[in-house]
Amino acid sequence: MAGILVCIEQRNGEIRKASLQALSEAKRLAGGDLPVAAVLIGEGVTASAAGLGANGASKVFVADDANLKLYSAEGYAEAVVKAAEAFGPSAVFFSGTAMGRDLAPRVAAKLGVGALADVVALSREGETFVARRPVYSGKAFTTVDSAGTSPQVISLRPNVFELEEGGGAAEVVALDGLALSIRAVVTEFLAAEGGEIDVAEADVIVAGGRGIKGPENLGLIRDLADALGGAVGASRAIVDAGWIGHSNQVGQTGKVVSPSLYIACGISGAIQHLAGMSSSKVIVAINKDPDAPIFKVADYGIVGDLFEVIPPMIEAIKAL
Ligand SMILES: Cc1cc2nc3c(=O)[nH]c(=O)nc-3n(C[C@H](O)[C@H](O)[C@H](O)COP(=O)(O)OP(=O)(O)OC[C@H]3O[C@@H](n4cnc5c(N)ncnc54)[C@H](O)[C@@H]3O)c2cc1C
Repeated sequence: MAGILVCIEQRNGEIRKASLQALSEAKRLAGGDLPVAAVLIGEGVTASAAGLGANGASKVFVADDANLKLYSAEGYAEAVVKAAEAFGPSAVFFSGTAMGRDLAPRVAAKLGVGALADVVALSREGETFVARRPVYSGKAFTTVDSAGTSPQVISLRPNVFELEEGGGAAEVVALDGLALSIRAVVTEFLAAEGGEIDVAEADVIVAGGRGIKGPENLGLIRDLADALGGAVGASRAIVDAGWIGHSNQVGQTGKVVSPSLYIACGISGAIQHLAGMSSSKVIVAINKDPDAPIFKVADYGIVGDLFEVIPPMIEAIKAL
């Protein structure tokens, strides 16, 4: 009986939440009859491998090498393929982070199979995984599978699948003999200044659009985000205007996010913006135009001037 292999992403040795969500989903789908393994890649990561048992892995393949300290498409793909060859899975799961979106198709190509990307729901029929994924910028969903290809390569959208804990320690297997013929070497990783929470990771996002009028008013959005312990998101309009960096942009050409709470302030709700945030669990929209399309996807809508609505919200949240 084959199983599910999950590629685990770490940054500075810290396992990313999106990977644990993918691993938890693998465990749920596996039920009692498919084994679940993980592959962990980096430098000095062996110590954290056994702990992945808590999220469902019974075995963890580890590629621990100084040449893998920073993400390298070639090196990481080689390690995942090696783990897949050793484990012989029916499916390989990735989280749909920037790294996962880069790595999954490369691994699929090396394995000679296709890849299903940005999956938001999964079910299993025998050893075939049936995936639901958005198409046409999230206007529609399609149900697809890659039955007949082995393994099935699938990337799971972050923050859509529940994270579960409750397992023992996993068996750790070192992946030896990697050639690691890396031609494009990442020499340095520079984190964004200010230590801001990344929108792709955040559980709460407060996003600003052109309705904030100018960069001098971003402080209001930041204050609301800070009060909620969340990240600051942005529409493309204000990124293009140079009011905030592209790393904050949510949407088709920005980041795809699924936080528990998304507050859109002065954002009209263009289809390209909705493509990045419509799978948020609770959406609140603040807009002075009652006909703004954002209200069609919002769970709670506040029709009003954001400069009047947000300050009392911040006060009320702080009072709580
Ligand atoms: C190929 C392509 C890719 C794109 N990718 C993206 C993407 O990734 N992300 C993205 O966001 N966009 C993207 N866009 C752009 C998108 O089409 C919209 O132009 C953009 O999202 C609009 O941004 P906005 O909502 O901030 O601005 P607007 O559409 O100008 O909306 C501003 C809103 O603010 C409201 N408002 C004004 N004043 C106030 C106030 N005082 N209080 C409350 N509300 C107020 C207005 O009623 C209005 O609804 C893309 C476009 C293309 C063609």
